[in-house]
Amino acid sequence: MERRIKLGRLFDVELGLHYSWIIVAFLVIFSLAANFHAIGPDWSGATVWSMAAMTAALFFMCLLAHELSHALVARARGIPIRRITLFVFGGVAEIGEEAHDATSEFLMAIVGPLSSGIIGGVLLGLATLAGWKLGVKPLTPITAELVWLGFINLGLAAFNLVPAFPMDGGRVLHAAIWHATGSGDRSGGISSRIGQFIAAGFIAIGMVAIFSGDGFSGLWLAAIGWLLFEQATATAARLRSKELLKGLRVSDLMSSGPQVIDGAMTIRDLVDHMLRSRRNLFLVTRGNAVIGIITPHEVLAVPRSEWEERQVQDAVQPLSTMAVATPDEPVVEALKTMLGSHVAELPVLSGSLLEGAISQSDILKTLRIREQFTNVR
Ligand SMILES: [Zn+2]
Repeated sequence: MERRIKLGRLFDVELGLHYSWIIVAFLVIFSLAANFHAIGPDWSGATVWSMAAMTAALFFMCLLAHELSHALVARARGIPIRRITLFVFGGVAEIGEEAHDATSEFLMAIVGPLSSGIIGGVLLGLATLAGWKLGVKPLTPITAELVWLGFINLGLAAFNLVPAFPMDGGRVLHAAIWHATGSGDRSGGISSRIGQFIAAGFIAIGMVAIFSGDGFSGLWLAAIGWLLFEQATATAARLRSKELLKGLRVSDLMSSGPQVIDGAMTIRDLVDHMLRSRRNLFLVTRGNAVIGIITPHEVLAVPRSEWEERQVQDAVQPLSTMAVATPDEPVVEALKTMLGSHVAELPVLSGSLLEGAISQSDILKTLRIREQFTNVR
């Protein structure tokens, strides 16, 4: 099951909400209510809670604007955008590819903090127009909301500029090293090491804070550090695999001659067959004609109770609708396609001819072998 709620589309970008955001929304509303109550002790409960809910909703839109700015700049630089998902620590714009050059990387990264900074500045400007002064407690509910949103956006801009790859600031650093060294992958390696280092620093400072009695901020810092460390490590691993797979083409790793099955076979028989074989992608024929492909993904779409009667040809997926690889394609690209479409195996097509299949486990095996030899080369 996908752990995201679909919110719709904006500028042709799919927007989603990670379920964890619901918990965060409650936390934000509660802490906002406490904050507004402290500012205006004589504001009614209804006022405080409706202010909190409205401010939380606006905060959510500010996060969305930040991510959308990344996505739209990416598109303007010729890079496709899949979707934006908001989760605990903000959002993620899932950009289909990496930047092709240092300038694009720089622009895509910097626009996020820049948007948050501008939004923050405008909101504080509006609060000032409404009578608020820096250092003075806001007097009306509206100014209290504007001030909170203004500062949180400035905070968001500053936090995202921390140079821990893959955060925005880390990407700016990545672009700078890329510009200086001329190599996107090498600078990615360097920036993810720096990212790990900074993340470890967050964890260390958090620990110190916890032991010196400031448990709450300490825990937050350590949690953020942990998340950043994981992200930097994942990025480093991804870049490493990309390097290890360099020069390999799909035809080097694919298993040739796909297994062919008859479309009249029942789904139950196919499942038994899958469980006994090492492959999970089958070419389905009817008579002499190829009618498509079947994988566990299609099988699982059929209710279990119908596996006895239903035939494979009812559940088959036509080749034209599937994600595919070609024999000459770099393995890295095929892997990207698999990860992007959430499949474990891809049919390999040469023109309209099915030549075989390539699976994530084939690639993993190769990675393990190559990894063992990296130190002796
Ligand atoms: Zn960002």
